Amino acid sequence: MQNCPCGSSEKYSHCCGPFLEGLKAPAAPEELMRSRYTAFTKADTEYLEKTMKGKPLEGFDAKATKAWAESVTWLGLTVVKTRHPGKDLGTVEFIARFKENGTACAIHELSTFQKIQGRWFYVEGKHIE
Ligand SMILES: [Zn+2]
Repeated sequence: MQNCPCGSSEKYSHCCGPFLEGLKAPAAPEELMRSRYTAFTKADTEYLEKTMKGKPLEGFDAKATKAWAESVTWLGLTVVKTRHPGKDLGTVEFIARFKENGTACAIHELSTFQKIQGRWFYVEGKHIE
């Protein structure tokens, strides 16, 4: 069995796997963030779509995202900081690394997560330069 793409050093089947397969829901913002990164590495836009609400969902182009996610090589995820400003609110700062057309790239983002009716959703993303 391979380690989970999110870099947790857990097996996929004990980490993000059950989330992507819909067997259980992430219990915390960082779990959701990690599972969304893993979904990117698998170009699982269905999972990405059902784990977000609000602005990110409005601007989401599943087809383009799938094509892009499949075209790059995912190199790894670093979670910089997780915060819980409220019971139903969390932020995760992360760096996702990938190779696009042979060039090493990184997305550095501060994501906001909100718990809505008992489930965590990705509701906002801010790029950090
Ligand atoms: Zn994982």
